[in-house]
Amino acid sequence: MRGLRFRLAVSYVAFFAILLAAIGFFFWRHLKSEAEADTQLTVSSDWEAMKLYLHIKNERPVWVADLTDPEEGFIVERLRRIYFLADADGNVVQNSELYDSIGFDSPEEIARMLKGPATGEFKISKDKNGIPYMIEKGWMHDDEGKDKYFLAIGRSLAIQYKTVDSFTRSYLLLAPAMLVLASLFGWWLAGIAISPVNSVAHAAQNVTGSNITVQIPLRGAGDELDHLIDSFNQMTERLHQSFEQVRRFSTDVSHELRTPITAIRGQLEVALFTAETPDQYRESIINAMEDIEKLSSIVRALLLLSQAESGQLVLQKAPLDLSGVVTDLVDQFQIPAEEKEVTLAASIEPCAPVEADRTQMERLLSNLLSNAVKYTPKGGSVRVVVGPAREPGWTKLSVEDTGVGIPAENLPHIFDRFYRVRNAQTNSIQGLGLGLSFVAWIVEAHGGRIDVASNSGVGTRFTVLLPSGVPAPDPIPAESATLTSNESRYS
Ligand code: ADP
Repeated sequence: MRGLRFRLAVSYVAFFAILLAAIGFFFWRHLKSEAEADTQLTVSSDWEAMKLYLHIKNERPVWVADLTDPEEGFIVERLRRIYFLADADGNVVQNSELYDSIGFDSPEEIARMLKGPATGEFKISKDKNGIPYMIEKGWMHDDEGKDKYFLAIGRSLAIQYKTVDSFTRSYLLLAPAMLVLASLFGWWLAGIAISPVNSVAHAAQNVTGSNITVQIPLRGAGDELDHLIDSFNQMTERLHQSFEQVRRFSTDVSHELRTPITAIRGQLEVALFTAETPDQYRESIINAMEDIEKLSSIVRALLLLSQAESGQLVLQKAPLDLSGVVTDLVDQFQIPAEEKEVTLAASIEPCAPVEADRTQMERLLSNLLSNAVKYTPKGGSVRVVVGPAREPGWTKLSVEDTGVGIPAENLPHIFDRFYRVRNAQTNSIQGLGLGLSFVAWIVEAHGGRIDVASNSGVGTRFTVLLPSGVPAPDPIPAESATLTSNESRYS
């Protein structure tokens, strides 16, 4: 975390430093070129004055000025401070001492200049003391207009450059101070920015198996960090729920396994301590075998369910005619239904095949049918209906009975593992509470939905909706609009 704060602060300071350097450079350049442009203007007006006061007669320079006039005297004096006059061959005609120290122009340079325009070539040169000058070079005719003479005049840039230098010095002094301030500010800002991340990390460290309900209060800013905190809170909530589910599941499993084990132990004790005749031994063993059978069916169902939920059970989907499955299963359940004196009938309407795994569809229907027969008392009836749903692209399968029904308060839980309704009507009926969990998984794995509507003492109807495959189904239809009384849905 400290690394991130450091990196954020460093990036901020680096950006600030680059910005500072760029601004500094821009102003330095701007001031310098302004100073040079100003001096160029002054030198240009000097050049105009030069043409007024300097004449060349008979190859000699003649200064035409009233030197008694102090103003004119001063002007001419100034013009001659940095001044160089040479003939076309590069021979010096007249020059100032200062120009001497800047360095004369070579004959080649002079020859080149004489071929170009009369004025306008500016150059910055330094004298031997390092003082910069703005020099303008060009040429002028002698008074006869015959020969060209090379002329160079200039002005010192020292004062202008001094202003630029003093700006540069102040800026270079101020910039490190601003950088230090920016670093402190950047460090502080990065600290504030990542403090919620730190609190998430701190909270995450406190998450343990027994303390999973850690919730970090939202800051209310509605920003990315609040989003992170919200996601973290939702994650701990989901973890809490799945931990709770695992805990409840292991409690349920141990409880469910204990009952038959206690019974087997009881039967074996009877055989060991109280049975005397072979018939009594045989009865104890038969009872123990029945309980072992129950035990192994629990283990089998659990194994299947865990395989299903961990994704190990791969569905072999293929186009399947549900009416065939219904006919087979209804036939198989005729004998148990008759034994219970329950009427079992099927109503089959032609419908499109569904994309489904046959074994799982048989298991689904078998679980629903066995429940319907099991929870319907003598004289009741069970009806299976299969056909197209009202919405195109869906097939409906429903199992309806006139049994004991499911009280409203139990309906939301009937698809949970090991959940059984415990009341006067159901207490005597054997079951593991795993059948409907498996039904729910099969429906979900086929992209369908299951609804249940029930009235205590009147009957129950389970409605399964499965996509027919062709044409592509609409979103899962709200078939339960037809369901009355208590209802629950799993999809
Ligand atoms: P069980 O092995 O107990 O039948 P299930 O998971 O199949 O377990 O069903 C869960 C509970 O739902 C049952 O204990 C029962 O109370 C209730 N139930 C399921 N089907 C019916 C039905 N057709 N009529 C009444 N109650 C039902």
